Amino acid sequence: MARPDQQRRWKTVRALIACLGVFTATAGAAAADDASGEKRIALTFDDGPKGAGAFYSGAERTARLITALRAGGVDQAAFFITTKNLEGEMPARRVRAYARAGHVIANHSDQHSWLNRVSAGEYIADIDLAEEKLEGFGNRRAWFRFPYLDEGRALEKRDAVRAALAERELMSGYVTVDTFDWHMDRLVAQAKRADECIDLDGVGEIYVDMLVAAAEHFHDMALGAMGRAPAQVMLLHENDLAAMFADDLVRGLRAAGWQIITADEAYEDELATHLPETLFSGMGRVAAFAYEAGYRADRLDHPAADEAAIEARFDAAGVLTCEAL
Ligand SMILES: [Zn+2]
Repeated sequence: MARPDQQRRWKTVRALIACLGVFTATAGAAAADDASGEKRIALTFDDGPKGAGAFYSGAERTARLITALRAGGVDQAAFFITTKNLEGEMPARRVRAYARAGHVIANHSDQHSWLNRVSAGEYIADIDLAEEKLEGFGNRRAWFRFPYLDEGRALEKRDAVRAALAERELMSGYVTVDTFDWHMDRLVAQAKRADECIDLDGVGEIYVDMLVAAAEHFHDMALGAMGRAPAQVMLLHENDLAAMFADDLVRGLRAAGWQIITADEAYEDELATHLPETLFSGMGRVAAFAYEAGYRADRLDHPAADEAAIEARFDAAGVLTCEAL
């Protein structure tokens, strides 16, 4: 539970947000999108350039993902690079290929450390190392995505990292639509390695359906908790499922009324500059503001960020098993 002083602070923040809402409502075109409830979303891929998966080599995955994004008409996705994966020539070529295809490249740390497990000093040094390793790549953006979305569980540490980012003019490359696409990818990879019968069309349908539902969930949450429809930022990973189904995902989102926007456009939203006060950061920024508005697990959680729910969905569809034979 929050301490009373935290509760007071949240009230102040909410009051400020309410004032900003009134202010921006009179501020013109940007606010018109919010008020209309228009659904806009950018795609972002973490952890690349990852090594071989169960289906593709790293190079094949990159080629397929670029093709899928082009087929889906995605002009610009963001790739948050974990720079320890850059060893050797091919991983660097893959990052350059993403940039050449129009996508933007940003920092996801070097070692992918969990802020909870290392000191603020070590964490910041790791961010700096990743920035150094990313020097020279095209289409760079000064964004940092927190591994595990953990922005710090104690105020002092959280604020130390926030101050370090501000000093370096690095913006938090926050997400608003948290998904466990990594768990879906892991389940399908396990089935592949176990030589199970995989119905890839069925897998794709579940992938798209659960991720579109996640976008809807955070859209509704934003309308309920913030009273507006911010530009959403979907968390995905540079994995084999993304390479197989990114174009289907885009089609699914469009069919549900979503407009696919660039990462640049998404981060023009005022969410980018109004940092949440709460230490609840693990589900992304809309959830953080919803938490400040009193939302708790029953209204924050959703199946696409729930390992058991994902497993149940695959099991029910029987898409990862030869049992039907
Ligand atoms: Zn990551």
